Amino acid sequence: MAISLHPSIDNGVQAGSKDFAGGTLTCKCASAPVTVALKGNVAFNHACGCTKCWKPEGAKFSIVAVISRDNLKVTANENKLKIVDPAAVIQRHACTGCGVHLFGRIENKGHPFHGLDFVHVELSKDRGWAAPEFAAFVSSIIEGGGARPEEMTAVRDRLKAIGLQPYDCLSPALMDLIATHTAKQKGVLAA
Ligand SMILES: [Zn+2]
Ligand SMILES: [Zn+2]
Repeated sequence: MAISLHPSIDNGVQAGSKDFAGGTLTCKCASAPVTVALKGNVAFNHACGCTKCWKPEGAKFSIVAVISRDNLKVTANENKLKIVDPAAVIQRHACTGCGVHLFGRIENKGHPFHGLDFVHVELSKDRGWAAPEFAAFVSSIIEGGGARPEEMTAVRDRLKAIGLQPYDCLSPALMDLIATHTAKQKGVLAA
């Protein structure tokens, strides 16, 4: 049996739809769930092996994407949300009832990803979300207790088999975005 990575990709990656208008994220509380409306599709959806992203019980990876913060709105039970770690770069707004992270936000205006919120589209029943494109911070699943070092070849092989190129930082496109932002801030690159 293939090694399990995350329930939403274990049977293969589902393609998104081009003209998807967005949908609603709902936490896992049986009553009074927190809901978040997302306008339009997400971008840079990927599997993440870091120790900070929310993932379902037993999953080795989270599935996380970004959307413009202007296109994200909490639509119910906002009072249940609490920031997991206010000192972290990405402030993850979690439900105090069920523990799910509804969105992560960067308040530092100088950060390359300022303006983008991090979301988990598996919290939505809507279909058409952009599919995961790659896997980031793969080696970190060892730190999170998700895999033993000797399992990593099998993990990377499985990621490649479902079309997700494994990286041990972010993807080249995102690393280039960060470096470009930093180079412009330093004046190395013309803004
Ligand atoms: Zn909840
Ligand atoms: Zn992560």
